[in-house]
Amino acid sequence: MDLTALIDDIVAAMARETERGTVASYIPELAKVDAGQFGVAIATADGRLLTGGDADTGFSIQSISKVFALTLALGKVGDQLWDRVGREPSGNAFNSIVQLEQEHGIPRNPFINAGAIVVADVNLGGHQPRVAIGEMLRFVRYLAGDDAIRINEEVAASETATGYRNMALANYMRAFNNVRHPVDLVLGSYFHQCAIEMNCRQLALAGRYLMLDGRHPEGGRVVSPSRARRINALMLTCGHYDASGDFAFRVGIPGKSGVGGGILAIVPGRAAIAVWSPGLNTSGNSALGTKALEMLARRTGWSVFSPP
Ligand code: GLN
Repeated sequence: MDLTALIDDIVAAMARETERGTVASYIPELAKVDAGQFGVAIATADGRLLTGGDADTGFSIQSISKVFALTLALGKVGDQLWDRVGREPSGNAFNSIVQLEQEHGIPRNPFINAGAIVVADVNLGGHQPRVAIGEMLRFVRYLAGDDAIRINEEVAASETATGYRNMALANYMRAFNNVRHPVDLVLGSYFHQCAIEMNCRQLALAGRYLMLDGRHPEGGRVVSPSRARRINALMLTCGHYDASGDFAFRVGIPGKSGVGGGILAIVPGRAAIAVWSPGLNTSGNSALGTKALEMLARRTGWSVFSPP
């Protein structure tokens, strides 16, 4: 497979697309991003990194951070995490509160906002938010092998000023003792993790451990093989909110999206892929990012449902 030619074709095809979605505006700072951009990066299991389009432009990783936060939380408390967060797709929007009442403050999965807020509470572990935020940033830098990755403070402040729904979710779960630290500290930590800024190149590199059965490509282990497989399973079943089924149907690769327009997709044993385009479809997932991954899966045969 000539991945360089494929990337060129994908970039050209995306430039021709007219339905490019709408940039998220509920976080005012994200609304300023130019919708015309598209980037892609593929890190392969044999150590290559191929990029195209705006692969060097930084963007807000937003909910993609939930993958890294989950990895850290499982490292801290192990399978006890599953006493506080479920593992089922929600079938609801990423910021929905409805199931929390039916399910006594236990979020459906760690990739919807409610679940990620519980994960942020676990990662706080009695510390001040700056300790947890520093740990998260160090972890992502280590995964990507890049110390230039930073947090965009304007985006964090913008969401802190407007994140009423997340405040509602956190307060609701605090009432069930499923958020255990003060809500403002948990959300401060959560908003900063969402405001991590990366480009496609850095994001694909950061995802390599998930295609390598939990190994860090430079040596050592990030997580056990079974944990890597489980995180990939959650990405496939829950990574695109109420559009997770459609993403599995169209693309067939575990993926996690964010409202900044990025998607991290993992092809076990083969590749970690980052795509980014800020325009979102109605489920809050990158419109062009999804189309690009659909084209990539078709051309490579990398759907996890295809024989190797
Ligand atoms: N920070 C965003 C929020 O909590 C993340 C949502 C997302 O990327 N889907 O609303």
